[in-house]
Amino acid sequence: MPILVTTLDRLRERGPLGPVWFRFGHRTWQALTDALDNPDDVRGFKRREAQRDQLRQQKRKQEEEQREREIREAREHWVAQQAAAEAAREPAPVCQKCDGPLESSRFEADPLEDAAPPADGVHCAGCRIQLAEPTSRFGRVIRRLVNGDGLTPPW
Ligand SMILES: [Zn+2]
Repeated sequence: MPILVTTLDRLRERGPLGPVWFRFGHRTWQALTDALDNPDDVRGFKRREAQRDQLRQQKRKQEEEQREREIREAREHWVAQQAAAEAAREPAPVCQKCDGPLESSRFEADPLEDAAPPADGVHCAGCRIQLAEPTSRFGRVIRRLVNGDGLTPPW
C-alpha cells in the first residue's frame, strides 16, 4: 500500500495537482498521478527481463562467434601444419648405383639386408652385396686394379 505525504505549505503554494506529494520509497516530490504510479511493478519486472534476454542473446551470439573463430583458426593451423610437413618431407633416399630404394621396407623383412654388409647410406642391400663380391666384368677390373695388377689391361 503506497503511503503519500504532503505539507499544507506545499499544497497552498502549488495546488493539489502540482509536485507536492512524496511517496515513501520514491526519491522526489511528485504530482499525485506519478506518486500513485509504481514503475517498479510488473512493467519493471518485464523491462528487466527483456534486458536479461537481450544480454543472454548477445552472450550466446558472442560464444557462437568465438566457437566459429576457434574452429576456423584450428583448421587454418592444421592446414599450415600439413603444408609445413609436406615442405619438410624429403624424398625417400635412393641407391646411387641402381636408383632403387635405399632402405628396405620397414614392414617386411628383407633377406638381402641380412646377407649384405652394413648399410653405408649410399647403396641398397643388393648393390652392397654386389660391391662386396664383384663378379661382373667391371667388378673383376676393379679387383685387379685394387690388387695392384692394374698395369696390364684386363681385356
Ligand atoms: Zn642399389
